[in-house]
Amino acid sequence: MIRVFPRKTKWTPTDKLAFIGDPPMFRPPDQLVKISCTFTWDINECERLYRGWSDFYSDVELGGPAFDDPGAEFTPGQFIKDGVTITSRGCVKDCEWCMVPEREGQIREYPILPGHNINDNNLLACSDKHVSAVFDMLRCQKKAIVFSGGLDAELFTGWHAELLMSINLGEAWFACDYPGAIKYLEKVALLVPEIKPRKRRAYVMIGFKGESLKNAESRLKAVYNMGFWPYAMLYRKKDEMKPKRWPKEWKKLQRTWCRPGGFKSAMKKKPNN
Ligand code: SF4
Repeated sequence: MIRVFPRKTKWTPTDKLAFIGDPPMFRPPDQLVKISCTFTWDINECERLYRGWSDFYSDVELGGPAFDDPGAEFTPGQFIKDGVTITSRGCVKDCEWCMVPEREGQIREYPILPGHNINDNNLLACSDKHVSAVFDMLRCQKKAIVFSGGLDAELFTGWHAELLMSINLGEAWFACDYPGAIKYLEKVALLVPEIKPRKRRAYVMIGFKGESLKNAESRLKAVYNMGFWPYAMLYRKKDEMKPKRWPKEWKKLQRTWCRPGGFKSAMKKKPNN
């Protein structure tokens, strides 16, 4: 099956039947084509690609998370590159800014397929039996383990800390998307003091619900000071068709706080903050 993506990201599969954008001049034979659309702001482009690929192929489908596709059982390497695995879909929470609850509904566990990068929405909301089996699988992986889907800091316990210490950890990603989430990261920091900041990462959504630039910056610094390397992300409405144009000072803040060189130098400039 041919899979088509509107843009290349670090997650895009790289096999011969994965394409970015328009059909090439030399094409594989007629077969099912699936256009994969993750974000609502890519819908127009994906609809254009649907028309373009339909000129050459008889069976073209357009779908993906942007079309509220609830997500079926995960097939490794199909829509996300090899090494990434998804062992559950859905979530037990209903965060205001997040597409997952509407799109995927309640959490459901899938058979555990091998991979070193766990991209579940909320692995820690799964049953202890499932979480335990996921870590059994992770202990068999050769590459360092990355939790790119994030580990829910609110649900994180001492048992999860022990599990993290039992694997070859690459990066454990948490989130601090609003001021009230700081206390959960503080708890995680106390539970896994051995894990270095470069391996303790935190997505930090900024600019949500009229947050001021100053408050966003203080939250980023608080995350850094707790021993997490932050990754700042500007808030995007879940159903927006075009990305919001953020003022340049917000863009600068985001750029500074999404890379180690940027945030380390920002902290050096104002060491007392
Ligand atoms: S916990 Fe994460 S996946 Fe679940 S609703 Fe909140 S942001 Fe979305």
